Amino acid sequence: TEGLLAYCRPGFEPDLAAELSWHAAQKGLPVYAKTQKNSAYVLLLGAPREQLAEAIPYRELIFARQKYALIDELQGLDVQDRITPVLEALGGKGRYGELSVETPDSDDARQLAGLAKAFGNALRPALRQRGLLTDKPNPKLPTLHVAFVGNNHLLLASSTENDRAPWPMGIPRLKQDPRAPSRSAMKLDEAILCLMTPAERMDLIAPGMQAADLGAAPGGWSWVLAKHQLQVSAIDNGPLNADALATGLIEHIRADGFHWQPPRPIDWMVCDMVETPSKVARRMAQWFANGWCRNAIFNLKLPMKKRWEETALCLDLFTAQCGKPVRIRAKQLYHDREEITVFARLDRK
Ligand code: SAM
Repeated sequence: TEGLLAYCRPGFEPDLAAELSWHAAQKGLPVYAKTQKNSAYVLLLGAPREQLAEAIPYRELIFARQKYALIDELQGLDVQDRITPVLEALGGKGRYGELSVETPDSDDARQLAGLAKAFGNALRPALRQRGLLTDKPNPKLPTLHVAFVGNNHLLLASSTENDRAPWPMGIPRLKQDPRAPSRSAMKLDEAILCLMTPAERMDLIAPGMQAADLGAAPGGWSWVLAKHQLQVSAIDNGPLNADALATGLIEHIRADGFHWQPPRPIDWMVCDMVETPSKVARRMAQWFANGWCRNAIFNLKLPMKKRWEETALCLDLFTAQCGKPVRIRAKQLYHDREEITVFARLDRK
């Protein structure tokens, strides 16, 4: 068994499976997905792992929190000795710069975290003894991943530095700022961290820039933008939190976010309005088509069943209706429940 292993939010396995299968089909790779409801991971099987890993880059995936090349699936293990089968599956091949023993983010698998840690401590010296693992962590070499799915069921995988999420299990640990007006504030923090490159954060976010926040109440996203010293027009008929207004950088405008337009072009538009995703995507595209903003971060709520199909449809619609080259990166963030977050920017090349 070899292929791809990807993690997702529990319950989104069918969506991730559909997405991975779509990418493989685009590249003409004959694959099938293996999923189990609420397991928080998907296996894509049927083609060599190097080929799949290269054909489906992590950064293009929306429903995958993390992506590895699957070396083997080990089932029905003797719980007295899981090390021997792992070493056998590796076949003495490979040199890894790091070992990560982890679990998918499901209720069942999370309970194996203690076991995973202890197993890692036992496996590490065994790998080193055979020259499979460097003595000191070396990020330039592949990382070996062992994922505990059950106490006798392991997934063996590898990843490379430039083709995976930089945080364990693809979950960035963000601190909630106690002053934030809403928990949603973390979503925008995470979007800025995960969807923008360091260079984009430097170039595209700067003090004094103008932003609009559509569907702003109670003001979490506006407050995050104000933290970056942007001037924010906060559009919502609902009330804004006093701490957000106290920043002095946020102007509350009671208006409909689907009709309001900025008096002159601005740098940023963010949008967290709860509406059908195609309606939001269409309105977001109008902003770019009309030149009202250069950058945007918006959410698409996905309360329906076929979330990957809806996502693909809405992103195609958005790109087509922008009427100019726009770069997009989309992800179901850790803090996103039934939704995804999209970063879009004018492509000036
Ligand atoms: N991002 C916000 C934060 O961090 O505090 C939370 C936004 S909340 C999920 C959605 C908001 O969108 C609600 O406050 C609602 O009033 C607003 N909203 C929904 N439809 C709207 C519309 N057509 N025009 C303006 N606001 C709208």
